[in-house]
Amino acid sequence: MRRTLVPATLALGLLIVAVAVPDARVLVGATGVLALVVALLTRGRRSRRSLLRAPQRARLAPLWPDASIKSVVEAMREPAFVIDRMLALRFGNGAASRAFGGSTLGDPFPMRFRAPDLLAALEAAVSDGEVQSVDYAERAPADRSWSVDILPIRGAGEGRASFFLVLFRDHTQARRLERMRTDFVANASHELRTPLASLTGFIETLKGPARDDAAARLRFLDIMGDQAARMSRLIDDLLSLSRIETKRRLRADERVDLAEVLASVVQQFTPASAEKGLPIELTGADAGPVFVNGDRDELTQVFANLLENACKYGDGGGRILVGLRRDGSVAEAFVQDFGQGIAPEHVPRLTERFYRVEEGSSRIRGTGLGLSIVRNVLIRHHTRLTVSSIPGQGSTFAVRFGIRASASSEKTKPKQRVELS
Ligand code: ADP
Repeated sequence: MRRTLVPATLALGLLIVAVAVPDARVLVGATGVLALVVALLTRGRRSRRSLLRAPQRARLAPLWPDASIKSVVEAMREPAFVIDRMLALRFGNGAASRAFGGSTLGDPFPMRFRAPDLLAALEAAVSDGEVQSVDYAERAPADRSWSVDILPIRGAGEGRASFFLVLFRDHTQARRLERMRTDFVANASHELRTPLASLTGFIETLKGPARDDAAARLRFLDIMGDQAARMSRLIDDLLSLSRIETKRRLRADERVDLAEVLASVVQQFTPASAEKGLPIELTGADAGPVFVNGDRDELTQVFANLLENACKYGDGGGRILVGLRRDGSVAEAFVQDFGQGIAPEHVPRLTERFYRVEEGSSRIRGTGLGLSIVRNVLIRHHTRLTVSSIPGQGSTFAVRFGIRASASSEKTKPKQRVELS
């Protein structure tokens, strides 16, 4: 203000002098014009400066979010942002930067979250002032899905909301489970439908063209028997899987003798494997009990499934080896066959539900659920299956457990005496 006033006053003074003293008019006139130009230039520069400052002030006002609201948003476990009516980012909490990386305050929010549905919901929240909910998904850097709520925030006495809370809830895990469940139902129905279709086909043939063909009838009935047995195996495996999933947690004091479990499973399979020319050798299980934390029935099922596979896929190997190794406080139980082996690309997928290696084993129609059951039981036992295999030479399936004291010896441990003063 003062800077404009000085040249303007000078110009006015010179004008008065020029009127009063005619001889000095040319000099005074030139000085006056100069002073007026200086005054105008100074004014122009100032107005440009205030123009630059105006949007800065607009960006700062109103002063929000204040510290207490920031702390509420910061305390939220879900990623949360505060944006203004122009959809510019005003605040993002720690969970938001952990989930989506850092963001610059003042940046347009839709620039970071580019999704037409989300943008439409943001605009609807601004124009209607109503809560909006929308789904948001990202493919990179990882597959993630979120449900997003946009909540208008009105200050006391404010007619329309100046700010909006954008709250993200992670649904990735729920979506994944949902997809797994639908895939599972689709796979299970497909697996059951195949033998069922075969049975229906044979029934039609027996009623029609093969009605009077006694030899064909017997052959077809055999195949039908196999298909029915396959359906029943599938149902048994599906029920086993669902039972394991709904079972209570394993109690920390449950004990099972691994050596005894292996011996009894070997005994159960000995007749069938001998018939196939695959005698079972048991090693390391006769050096006394090896107690681990576990459920007897479930671990029996684990080693029965492994041994059944060794019998199914160990053709030509001449024998099957079942063993127990002790290494300090760790016990490792294993089932080894010397059959066809498994190509390395299949090994990581063996425990997936319904996964079957269709090459060498395509003749043998398993359910593809046996190793999935093994995996689920072992997860409950806080351990896992390791597979090593050389195609053409055979496979070893091994499980490691921590050795525990037997339940009875734990009970007889001397009680600790605590002296209370
Ligand atoms: P299945 O009922 O088909 O045997 P599993 O889940 O037990 O189902 O096994 C999955 C697949 O892993 C089998 O289809 C087979 O291809 C392969 N597999 C399992 N055990 C062996 C083994 N000992 N040797 C070779 N392949 C095996």
